[in-house]
Amino acid sequence: MFFKLQIVIYWLILQLHKAKSRASLLKLQQKRWRKFQKVLHRSPFYQAKSLHNTTLQDYPVMNKASFMGQFDQINTQGIQVKEAYEVALGAEESRDFSPEINGITVGLSSGTSGNRGIFLASKKERAFWVAAVLDRVIGFSLKKRRVAFFLRANSNLYSSVKSRVLSFDFFDLYDTLAHHVQRLNQLKPNILVAQPSMLLDLAQEIQQGRLHINPQKIISVAEVLYPEDKALLEVTFGQMIHQVYQCTEGFLASTCAHGTLHFNEDFLMIEKKYLDDSKTRFHPIITDLKRSSQPIVRYELNDIIQEKTDCACGSPMMGIAQIEGRSDDVLVFENTDVQEVRIYPDFFRRAIITADDAIQDYTLVQRNANLLELYLQGSEESFQKAKQGIEVLLVKYQIDTVNIVRTKIKHHEQGNKLRRIKYEKN
Ligand SMILES: [Zn+2]
Repeated sequence: MFFKLQIVIYWLILQLHKAKSRASLLKLQQKRWRKFQKVLHRSPFYQAKSLHNTTLQDYPVMNKASFMGQFDQINTQGIQVKEAYEVALGAEESRDFSPEINGITVGLSSGTSGNRGIFLASKKERAFWVAAVLDRVIGFSLKKRRVAFFLRANSNLYSSVKSRVLSFDFFDLYDTLAHHVQRLNQLKPNILVAQPSMLLDLAQEIQQGRLHINPQKIISVAEVLYPEDKALLEVTFGQMIHQVYQCTEGFLASTCAHGTLHFNEDFLMIEKKYLDDSKTRFHPIITDLKRSSQPIVRYELNDIIQEKTDCACGSPMMGIAQIEGRSDDVLVFENTDVQEVRIYPDFFRRAIITADDAIQDYTLVQRNANLLELYLQGSEESFQKAKQGIEVLLVKYQIDTVNIVRTKIKHHEQGNKLRRIKYEKN
């Protein structure tokens, strides 16, 4: 009961601190940053800086490697990285989804085996996360609602939301589509939460008359939601597709009533590391003012973000026009002057989908500086048009040595994240 009470309290706090202007938002951040010093005092890694009242800009910028490298020093719980890995991996193997060390939940981020991050969350932090999700994503209601939630692995972060008015049904991404359809038809969820690639599969099941559900809200998570996929889903489901931008490092953003993602700047401080001269793309550097067991301070994400500055909802929180992919989705070539040229995935996306209206499903994988593999569901004519579209793009950058071949393999394995455009060496 204490946990649920805690959620309600946090939810009320979030209601009481809704900033209406940019100025009051920044003021709120400063107040929370001062309060956050108490947490930093308890982190061996940050203690000295915090005691000297160091400004945020003088803290080191972290990334996944440096953050994990300093794991033992950063966390405020005296937890060793080795122990945390053992507990989390052991839990994953036994499908026991509630690994804890001294009451602190230990989670593993997805990724290749040597490259997985560990995250810690106390009960209070989990309660805050639930309150924020209720506030921004699910909506507070006393009516009983069923949530269908597609995940790679369950986590007690999610099952902890369970209550009399909210039931969570977990769908394992590795399960078959036919089984999902059968269960969804039975469950008839009010809210559907899934990655875009799964939503696209479900949309197809609806079109073919096998799936009969009518959720009031659909939330896309975990993968990039490409604009044309979003449009297709909105037509099939007959409603707006909401998004949550969330990762190991925290609950970062969610969509407003107008469908725009906004960063949760009331408890996150976002700095922008611009990637291009025109300042249209950036990596977000996040500071989470509500994390306490494992402080996240100036953590640079490798996601490529395009900012949206004109959302009609009027929120003072930074809008996102598009999450384009990750920095390793940028394709790298050599031009006729033997200079390296880096091209953002969004340019290829546009080149492919604007080439032919019939193109819906595709993946583009760069194997080396001279080889692109294009998978495309459709005719040879569609492929030739897409190929031409890519060639026109490359010529603009004086690149003329790239071979574009058609592959029958869609680069997407069930359960893994769909990235339509990526750089992956053979
Ligand atoms: Zn908005």
